[in-house]
Amino acid sequence: MAGALNGQSASERREALKEVFAQTQVCTRCAELAATRKTVVFGAGNADADLMFVGEAPGASEDEQGLPFVGRAGKLLDTLLGEIGLARSDVFVVNTLKCRPPGNRDPLPIEIDNCRDYLLRQVQLIEPVVICSLGNFSTKLLRDDPTGITRLHGQPEVLVLGGRALRLYPIYHPAAALYTPRMLETLREDFARLPELLALGAPDQPSADLAADEAGLQEARRAVELAHADESPPGLPEGVSEPAPADQLGLF
Ligand code: URA
Repeated sequence: MAGALNGQSASERREALKEVFAQTQVCTRCAELAATRKTVVFGAGNADADLMFVGEAPGASEDEQGLPFVGRAGKLLDTLLGEIGLARSDVFVVNTLKCRPPGNRDPLPIEIDNCRDYLLRQVQLIEPVVICSLGNFSTKLLRDDPTGITRLHGQPEVLVLGGRALRLYPIYHPAAALYTPRMLETLREDFARLPELLALGAPDQPSADLAADEAGLQEARRAVELAHADESPPGLPEGVSEPAPADQLGLF
């Protein structure tokens, strides 16, 4: 896509994304999730996509395969994408959490917080023009506000994330629409507006100072985390499954 705001080429950003992928594969920030997951579901798709989807958390099928949205909700996502002439290989799909909560329980606030920086880093490196937040968890996280999806769906807004301005477009989660025909109809209508939103292109970017401030805050947070990471003993704690093979999953 356009606009290499951070000065990196698409291939440099993709390489950096692979480094984030490697970090996530051995993440143990959430002890329970690290002990119960089969895989870490990093996200998949086009590393230079204009459109990114952010769901909730992996379910059983995603945990099994290490890829996001491969179950029934994923099939619906594919159908809706097809209806606007897009495929998975055109977009990047990721979740608020990279690990499956046991029994598909809701993500805990601490887990969302632990995973937040990985997601923001993905946004920084993929440089999407539009982020579609699917359902409540990702919408609340990205807007940093408790307003729910029922009030916000279908209303795009400009947001600065990782120092870049982009268009956030909250819509219903496909899993919720699977069982509620009226919600599916609304989701389909909201989806149909995506092409015009993408056609607007990226919003005006914040001044370099503002962007640096925002990105600097994230950098500082990451530095603190890295310092903490240094304090951890090497290797995975007992009971934590081995990381996925070094092969990258699902990155185009
Ligand atoms: N629901 C999600 O939020 N994410 C997935 O990957 C699958 C189902």
